[in-house]
This record gives sequence, structure tokens and C-alpha cells, in this order.
Amino acid sequence: MPTRRRAPAKKSSAKARKWVYLFVDGKAEGSAKMRALLGGKGAGIAEMTNAGLPVPPGFTITTEACNAYFASGRKLPAGLWDQVEKALARVEKSTGKTLGDTKNPLLVSVRSGAAQSMPGMMDTVLNLGLNDETRAALEKLTKNPRFAWDAYRRFISLFGRIVLGISGASSTDPEAKGPFEMALEEKKNATGAKTDAELKPDALRQLVDEYKKIVRRETKRDFPTDVNDQLRLAVEAVFGSWFGRRAVDYRNAFKISHELGTAVNVQSMVFGNMGDDSGTGVAFTRNPNTGAKELYGEYLVNAQGEDVVAGIRTPSKIAQLKQEMPKVYAQFEKIAQKLEKHYRDVQDLEFTIERAKLYMLQTRSAKRTARAAVRIATDMVREKLINKDEAIQRVDPLHVEQLLLPRFDEAEVEKARKAGRFLAKGLNASPGAATGRAVFDADRAVELKGSKQLVVLVRPETSPDDFHGMIAATGILTARGGSTSHAAVVARGLGLPCVAGVTELDIDLQKRQMRVGDKVVREGDAISIDGTSGEVFLGELPTIQPKFREETLLIELLSWADQRRRLGVWVNADTPEECRLARELGAEGVGLARTEHMFRQAERLPIVQDMIMADEVDGRKKALAKLLPFQQGDFFEMYKAMDGLSVVIRLIDPPLHEFLREYADVDVDIAVMRATGQDGAELDRKEKIERRLQQLHEDNPMLGLRGCRLLLVYPEILEMQIRAILGAAIDASEKGIKAKPEIMMPLVGVMGELDRLQQQVVAVAEAIFKERGKKVPYKFGTMIEIPRACLIADEIATKAEFFSFGTNDLTQTILGISRDDAQKSFLTKYVEQKIIPADPFQVLDRDGVGAMMRIAIERGRKTRPGLKIGICGEHGGDPSSIAFCHEVGLTYVSPSTYRVPVARLAAAQAAIAGAGEKDR
Ligand code: PEP
Ligand code: MG
Repeated sequence: MPTRRRAPAKKSSAKARKWVYLFVDGKAEGSAKMRALLGGKGAGIAEMTNAGLPVPPGFTITTEACNAYFASGRKLPAGLWDQVEKALARVEKSTGKTLGDTKNPLLVSVRSGAAQSMPGMMDTVLNLGLNDETRAALEKLTKNPRFAWDAYRRFISLFGRIVLGISGASSTDPEAKGPFEMALEEKKNATGAKTDAELKPDALRQLVDEYKKIVRRETKRDFPTDVNDQLRLAVEAVFGSWFGRRAVDYRNAFKISHELGTAVNVQSMVFGNMGDDSGTGVAFTRNPNTGAKELYGEYLVNAQGEDVVAGIRTPSKIAQLKQEMPKVYAQFEKIAQKLEKHYRDVQDLEFTIERAKLYMLQTRSAKRTARAAVRIATDMVREKLINKDEAIQRVDPLHVEQLLLPRFDEAEVEKARKAGRFLAKGLNASPGAATGRAVFDADRAVELKGSKQLVVLVRPETSPDDFHGMIAATGILTARGGSTSHAAVVARGLGLPCVAGVTELDIDLQKRQMRVGDKVVREGDAISIDGTSGEVFLGELPTIQPKFREETLLIELLSWADQRRRLGVWVNADTPEECRLARELGAEGVGLARTEHMFRQAERLPIVQDMIMADEVDGRKKALAKLLPFQQGDFFEMYKAMDGLSVVIRLIDPPLHEFLREYADVDVDIAVMRATGQDGAELDRKEKIERRLQQLHEDNPMLGLRGCRLLLVYPEILEMQIRAILGAAIDASEKGIKAKPEIMMPLVGVMGELDRLQQQVVAVAEAIFKERGKKVPYKFGTMIEIPRACLIADEIATKAEFFSFGTNDLTQTILGISRDDAQKSFLTKYVEQKIIPADPFQVLDRDGVGAMMRIAIERGRKTRPGLKIGICGEHGGDPSSIAFCHEVGLTYVSPSTYRVPVARLAAAQAAIAGAGEKDR
């Protein structure tokens, strides 16, 4: 008979750190407040114990112990084992059972539990303490040989997999079945058992023998029968799982620090598999999908926790428990309510019923869908469980965007995945879901849309010439490009889902098809893209189309947010439709209208191209005169949509060659025409285009002739745009519409530029006011998107009546990283390898770009106190960047349309967090 042996442990000094916290006999040393030290699970268990709930006794080894373990090269810290033994002795006393005892053995579970929930990412060992002798004792005690053998074989396989590292997974097939699973399968086949539960005691006994052989074969050692060795190895394995691949990937994906460490919970086992009056399950205090106030969850009779997770048997709905075990159900319902009230949040509960007695194993805040989050937060305010500030903080701003965009039915996505219709994954460049026929050029997209078909535009990458195809499409898919690529920025502006940078896509534009491995998609084949996850599927997937107006709970929550936030929320919008939608979503002004987007619509592009091709000012002016009515009409409609609110209109920005992309292959055409002897007018025309393209060619166009530089080189463009802006404002005022135009200059870096631009604007304005016999108010301001502009902001503010940070260009110029090329070549790797914490084009780089912004704000407002300063770069829709904007005192943020509600909520959260900081 093996006696209980203690692992040799150094005696701890009197002052040894406290590594172990007990929860036993209705009293816990920890509490919910000690989450960082005890992990979420440990803190929850402690709190439940102190609240008098039925919790099996045990102890928690702290996250500090885990960190000390890694800091000393994977050695348990001094004093730890001593404390474990003492705690174990208390648990043994409380349960009347002893670990390793051959008459009344204690079995324990050893579970991980980090401060932030990382579902399923780390390891758990159940039934620890079993060996041949304790198993026999268990059989005697329970008079249930099947139960004892089953517990033993589960323990060996769990311990074998998790602690001894025996798995079938390989780098080529991480899902491969391991030797334990294969042996189990074979045993079921050999005995005709359909489920694990049908395996007879004898078969289980044979399995135990086979499992032991597997351990010997795979580790060259016998399965450890010493229960103390088992416990120590398991504790170390759980520590080790903190740096397991899954856990590391999860933390990277959710931006959780790698330095937190995991706690380890050692808890006496209770058994849900002791017969039909036993069971185990998980339940939420409210429905985590819809937010409805109802117990939601499932359980399995005569089963252990892993059966629920493994999906081997189909669990029953929790409501069924009311019929099967009414007393237990009533007790559980009461406890669930108590815990929800106690934590003032929806709880995710784990429980086990052992011979009709209920035990609570875990409580934690429940993960929930966006829809549920909004409903729960607003319901709880009505129930007076939380206040409005708390409700605002309970909803993830980025989730809000999901509520407004089309999305796929989750069940259908799963079905598609199972049916092998998953095609590839790229960058989730613009959220929402789209399904339609694949087309490979913009003109075809327009054609098919004309015949009322839904299309997904697939391109190697998009350019401004694809714009008409993009607005005809329901979604965009590109093989190249990052989150500030043309496709991504335009798609976000249009509220179109976009998956970008799917490098596996092999697109053949000639054959109008694409290929991923042996899967081929031809023009007209249906595909589905999910811009929220970045996934691409073959075939159609049904989408659900939400309507903001119908989201009454969200509207209510946002109205609370509006009362709380200090930042204004404007919008980046280029069309009257976008303005109307944005206003419905709560935009309080247009912070950026990129006028060049209006140049790209089908009937206008040829005029713009004529303008660019004109040899002289007169030719340009002629083309511009044709463009004027289009621009003026657009501005009028935008003023009308935003009646009474500011509309910041930025003059033309991009380099002109961007409007000539369709001529990229003109040199080839010319060569072919020459070779085939086709001369004449067409060849002349092409040669002229070729010459102009060569003139316009720049090696780094993003920092060349663009922005205000263009306006100074071609002042006639400025003149036309100012005429359109102010002309439309006069038209509007004649119709009783309150237009508030604000003229914004792009890319200003030196005062000379701003001086000249202002003079020109004033001159044109005076001319048009005179012609029309009417004056309208307007503002003159500038973007701040060049580092030098930040430094001379005091001077700039002498002329500019407002600033708007163009943080796309400001990031590009401060970091010296090209916004167009960086993601595909190195930026994504930088983020993966943690060379930088986040993509600076998505999350504002506070130390660099942020520091320059602070300088600009301080200097600008020194000259002009109360200067209106906004942000119109992509960061204006990113919650953490919005928090920074709040902190530095910007007047407003201006995100793309569907991010308006996101920004309203994020701005309120920043205000609430800021108020808290001051209180502290
Ligand atoms: C910016 O640079 O941040 C900006 C808003 O302008 P654009 O993206 O059009 O260059
Ligand atoms: Mg810019």
C-alpha cells in the first residue's frame, strides 16, 4: 500500500511570500477584488465561498507564483510547496478525505485561471489523485466499478495529454487524434458501444491498461502513481500552459499582456458522473446571444465537465432540469440570481450535481454578442442594477458597428465551414458581410448591378478607377493591400464590407477567375466575404440586414452617451447619401468631404482627365467649367442634408496620375499600334497621354505633387472648387437651408503656402459674392498632416480658423512609413513580432504622432484660444485613439459613416474614464 509521501520541499522562511490562498468551510482568504493575483476563476470561487454558496473546498496558487516560476527558469518558488501542503491538509480535514489514501481518497481538479478570461486556452486536469489503489477504494466507496474505472481512464488520458504532452497533433495536422482518442475509438468499435457512456466496466479496465502502455511507449516511463508527483507535475503543467501556443496566440489576438501569468486552482472533485441523479453543466444568467432575461445554458446527466465541452453527447437545455431535478433547479436559479445581483453583471456559471447535491464551480462575467450587450446594459439600468455610466462602459464600441452592418447567420457560416466552403482568410479591412457573384473588373460590376445582381468586386488591389465598380458592388475582395489601402478606406467610407490582402488569392484577370489551391472561382460564381472576420467562402451565405432606426435600445444607450461625452462626433462623408445616413447615425457635422471622390464618378472622370491632359490654363479652365456644376450640385445636396451643421470641404488632394490609372498600359498599346502599322488620330492621342503620364510620373507620389501643392501649381482648380463651395452655399441660403461651409487645405507645411492659398480663396470668394450679389459666411482652415505644420501651428493659427489632424498622412510622415506599402511588406510582421504594439495606421501612435499633436494643439491655441481642432484620419473611428483625442482636448472626431455610433460611445467612455482618473 503506497503511503502518502510529501515532495521534498525547502522549509519556507517566516517571511515567505504568500503563494497560496485557501477557500474552505465557507471561508475564503481571497475575494473578487483579488483578480490580478488569483485569476478570474480563483477570485470568483473565493467570492462564492464567502457568499455561503456551495463550493467544493480547495486553494488557489497565485499568478505571482506563476511569474516567479518562469523568472527562475521553470522552478517552483521557495516556500510554495510547503504552503500547498498546508492548504491541502486543510482541504483534507474539511472533506474527511486524504489525497492518495487507500480507504477514503481525495481527488482534486487542477485548473488554470488567468486574470482575463481566455476560454479554453489553457489546461485543466481532473480526477487527480487516482492510481490503482485509490481507484479500488473509489470503487468500494461508491459501489460503482464503472464510475471508478471511467474516472481513472479519464485521468490517465487527461494527465497524459496535458502534463506529459502526449498528443496526436503535429505541425501539419493540429487537429489529429491522439493515441488515447484512437484507443477509445477502437474500444468502442470492438465492443459495439455507440457512446463513451455505453462502455462496460471491463472495457474501461482494459482501456486503463492500454492507456498506461501508451504512456510508457510515449514517455519511456511508467504513469506516475505517486499522488504528490501527480500534483506537482500538474501544477507545473498548468503554469507551463501560460506560454503554450494557443494561449500565446489568444493573448496576441486580444492584446492581453504576456506578463500577467495564470493562477492554478486545486479543488476537491465533485462528480457529475455518479449516476442519473448527477450531472454537470454551464449556464448564463441571461441569454448571451439576445440579452433576454432568462437562464440560458445546458447540462448533461451523468457526465463530467469535459463531456459538455467535447460535444460527445448532446446536452439538454437548462429548462429541462426543472423537470428532472426540480429542487436542484430551484436552488440553482436562486444562486444564479444572487450572483448576478452581487456582481451586477451577467454571469457565466459552471456547476456540477453530485448525487442530487449542487456545487458551484465557477462564476465569471459572461461574454456576449453586441446585441445582447446593448440589451443587457439598458435592461440593467431599468432594473436599477447599474447606472447609466456603467451601462455605457459595458458595451464595446467596436461591437456597435457590427450591429449596423449586414452580417452572416452564424449557423450558416458553420455549415459552410463544415461543407468545405471556406476559401481563404485575409485582413478584415472593412466590417460587414456580403455575398454575391464574383466579378473581376469595375465595368462588369456596374453591368451586373444593372441587371439587378449582387456582385463582389475582386481585384488584385483597387485604384480610384475602380470606384464606380466599388459603389456597384456589395463587397470588395483584394489580394493585396492593408487597412489603409485604397480598397479599405473607400469601403469603410461606403459602409461596404472589404477583405483585403488575401495573399493566397491567385487572380487571373485575363481569364476572369481566381484560384486558391485547387479551388477555382470564375466570373459569376457566388462568393461570400466577411469583412469583420476577414474570411472568404465559396457560394452564397444568407445575410441579415439591420436597420439603425429599429435599434431602439442602442439609440437609447447612445443618447446617454451623448450626455456624457465632451468630444463632438462628426463624419467623413463624400456624398449626400452618406451625409443623410451619418446624420441619422448621430453625426454633428461633416469633418471631411474628400472632394476628389466626387471626381471619380463615371460621368465626371473623363472631364477630369481632359483637365489633366489640357496643355494650357485655358484648356484646364474649360474642363473645370464643366465640372463646376457637378461639384456645386453635390455641395448643395450635402448642405441640405446637414442643414445647420458645419461641412468641412477639403480641396483636391491626390496626385493627378491617380485619375489616369486606366492608361497604365498605354505604352503597350502604343507599341502594338506601331508594330501593326495603325497610325492616325488614336495613336496621336495615346502618345499624348503617354507623354503626360511621363511628366506626371513620380517615384513617391504620396509625398510629391499633391495636396495644396497641386492647388498652388494649378490655381484654376482651387478657383473652380471655391466657386462650387460658395456658389452652392448661396444656392442653399436662397432655399432657406443653413449652409455652413468650412474650406480646408490639405498637406500644408509652410506659411508661404497658407498665405497664398488664403489670398486666393478670399479673392475668389469676393468675386463670386459680387457676381451673385450676396455674401455667405464661411471658414478657412487647414489639415495638420505634415510634422512641420505641428511645429509652426502657432503661426498657422494666425490664418487658419480651424485645424483638422490628418493622422493618416501625419503617421506616414512622422514614422517615415508609407501608408500604401508598409502593411504588405513589413508592418503586419512588426505587429506579430511585437516590434511595435499595434498598427499605427489603425491605432494612433501616442508617443510619436500623439506627441506632435500635443505640440500643435498647444501652439495653435496659444495664438487662437478655443481654436476648433478635429481629427479626420482613420483614427477618428478607433476607440483607443478617440480616448487620446478626448485626453488632449480635441473639439471633435470625424470617423467614417458607420463608425459614428462607435465614436459616440467611445467618446463617452473616455469622458467617464477621465472623470474617474481625476477622482482618484
Ligand atoms: C489623412 O491624411 O489623415 C486624411 C484624412 O487625408 P487622406 O487620408 O485623404 O490623405
Ligand atoms: Mg491626408
